[in-house]
Amino acid sequence: MSNYEAVIGLEVHCQVRTASKMFCSCANTFGAEPNTHTCPVCMGYPGTLPVPNKEAIRKAVIAGLLTGCEIARFSKFDRKSYFYPDLPKNYQISQYDMPFCTDGCINVGGEGVKGFSGDELPAKRIGITRIHLEEDPAKLSHYQGASGADYNRAGVPLIEIVSEPDMRTADEAYAYLTSLKEIMQYGNISDCDMEKGQMRCDVNISLRKSSSDPFGTKIELKNLNSFRAVHRAIEYEMWRQAQELDAGRTLRQETRGWNDDSGESYLMRTKEQAHDYRYFPDPDLLPVTFTEEEISEFKANLPELPAAMRARLVAGGLTEYDAGVVTADRHLAAYFDEAAKSVKNPKLLANWIISELLRELSAAGMDITESPITPANMAELVNAVDGGSISGKIGKDVLPEMFATGKGANEIIKEKGLAQVSDAGAVEGFVDQAIAANPAQVEQYKAGNPKVLQFLVGQVMKLSKGKANPKLVSDILAEKLK
Ligand code: ADP
Ligand code: ZN
Ligand code: MG
Repeated sequence: MSNYEAVIGLEVHCQVRTASKMFCSCANTFGAEPNTHTCPVCMGYPGTLPVPNKEAIRKAVIAGLLTGCEIARFSKFDRKSYFYPDLPKNYQISQYDMPFCTDGCINVGGEGVKGFSGDELPAKRIGITRIHLEEDPAKLSHYQGASGADYNRAGVPLIEIVSEPDMRTADEAYAYLTSLKEIMQYGNISDCDMEKGQMRCDVNISLRKSSSDPFGTKIELKNLNSFRAVHRAIEYEMWRQAQELDAGRTLRQETRGWNDDSGESYLMRTKEQAHDYRYFPDPDLLPVTFTEEEISEFKANLPELPAAMRARLVAGGLTEYDAGVVTADRHLAAYFDEAAKSVKNPKLLANWIISELLRELSAAGMDITESPITPANMAELVNAVDGGSISGKIGKDVLPEMFATGKGANEIIKEKGLAQVSDAGAVEGFVDQAIAANPAQVEQYKAGNPKVLQFLVGQVMKLSKGKANPKLVSDILAEKLK
């Protein structure tokens, strides 16, 4: 097989999280009884008029600002005509030649960064052509011999983010999607849950012999249900197109579907069957304009993005790895920030959250937003360990108790009498008992084997039920065995 370079551009749709739909007052819901959130507007009844959702427009603009786009001071909505059961008006309100956002980018990779397949992923800027706002069509489901349409989804605000054909590998596409999703989630624009259809991705891909050649004929891939599927589909399509080209066949521009079970793409339609959407400005909607003041205000209130937060956490003493885990989920990041307000040692907080709290949550099948341990309580526990009022070992018993009861750390420490014994007199008592009970080890230590001291410390800890301050124990032991 000859060597080809892949050229990849992605078209991503994200449902915008709003209270109501894009052009009517129906609730923007997921999972409700089908066709219970509809009205004459989103059902396309004649004579109804759309009213744009200000919050959806604001979020579309924020999405653009977070990806470095230019924001149009003047834009408009257009009608995209097509006839299909998912679209009761027979046109979709979208944006054609004047989208809200153009000319942005997302940066992926970097030194030491690994891509999805484990190979190094060098830094790369991936251009964003445009972000426009439109309405989601209804959701169609196909059954044996019948189809169903759920118009609850009809009219839900949707942004489409179109990338430049800047990606060259499946790993780059995967990293772009991961970063885009993080940005949308941090910006509170979309929850981007692919399983709920809140984020959907189409892949455009073509091959060429050399990077100085013009682009080849692109194939559009649809029905990609996960980032993993995108990665697989790209690799498969690179192989398939290379076979075709090697065999001397020319590729037609076509739309293909992806079957994740068989790991193959299949033909859906060719360019000849492409729609003519007959776009024209929607006469029912006024153009949308922004003043400089409005744009400045959007810019002044942008949320912190994960990359910036990671840098902030690393500066605060976390490792790159820990900062990556904490910021991988927006809710976890918010939880960490909230708890960090009241701890002196953020690194210790990160350790406890990552190794202990996340384990409890995963065992209970909960996510961080459902944590029975509040950020304030988590901070209390970490401060108790950090300040030496309990040992880390005891802390590991306190945490599950907090998790099970929702009580604060100090309350449990007090209730169960778990506070570390730092009273020299009390510790001395345990030390004397340990010395008396282990004469052979005491002899070995005195004969010059320093390693047995650890054993004796362990015995003292056992006698104190883990509560003695370990530093004090070894100091007193060493003193007594001199
Ligand atoms: P269309 O007019 O078919 O919608 P566009 O030019 O709008 O095509 O591009 C749609 C998507 O396809 C964009 O993400 C773009 O980056 C990508 N794309 C365009 N040309 C190619 C190509 N030759 N190979 C791969 N991707 C491409
Ligand atoms: Zn409605
Ligand atoms: Mg296009």
